Amino acid sequence: MAGLCRGQRCSSAPRFVPHDELLTNLGCKVGENGWVATDPTGATSVAGVWAAGNVVDSPAQVITAVITAAGAGTVAAIAINHYLLEEDIKHAVAKYHTAGNALSNVTEQRVAEGVLGDPSP
Ligand SMILES: Cc1cc2nc3c(=O)[nH]c(=O)nc-3n(C[C@H](O)[C@H](O)[C@H](O)COP(=O)(O)OP(=O)(O)OC[C@H]3O[C@@H](n4cnc5c(N)ncnc54)[C@H](O)[C@@H]3O)c2cc1C
Repeated sequence: MAGLCRGQRCSSAPRFVPHDELLTNLGCKVGENGWVATDPTGATSVAGVWAAGNVVDSPAQVITAVITAAGAGTVAAIAINHYLLEEDIKHAVAKYHTAGNALSNVTEQRVAEGVLGDPSP
């Protein structure tokens, strides 16, 4: 190496680069720091896409390590589960209404009174 004499050593800090092509190709926004942006649950800017660990967090690569990446993955998994449940419910309600099963106002009131009691004083 130029400028170094025998017996001398040279070291340099590595520059971490995320392998985030999968996310960026899906359209996930990248933050000012150059890493795919996520909210605290790991949700990216694309609905239904979460990311966690090294791919979105430069310090996690060396400072906070596996445990942080695993924790972020767990938080993302919980959020994904909630998202899928919400989507299932939306689909089920839409399917129910499409099949012409929507409750009439009268039926809805009867059901509400059955559950909550008669609202009249
Ligand atoms: C030099 C170095 C030393 C470290 N030493 C330690 C240590 O001693 N202890 C410690 O706790 N942590 C250590 N870490 C940190 C630790 O490695 C990371 O925090 C952890 O691996 C992050 O896990 P991850 O699942 O986010 O990413 P990764 O472990 O990198 O896993 C991502 C996986 O996704 C795969 N992948 C990427 N793109 C695609 C794609 N398009 N399709 C399918 N698969 C894809 C990759 O091949 C990879 O297998 C070290 C890190 C470095 C760089």
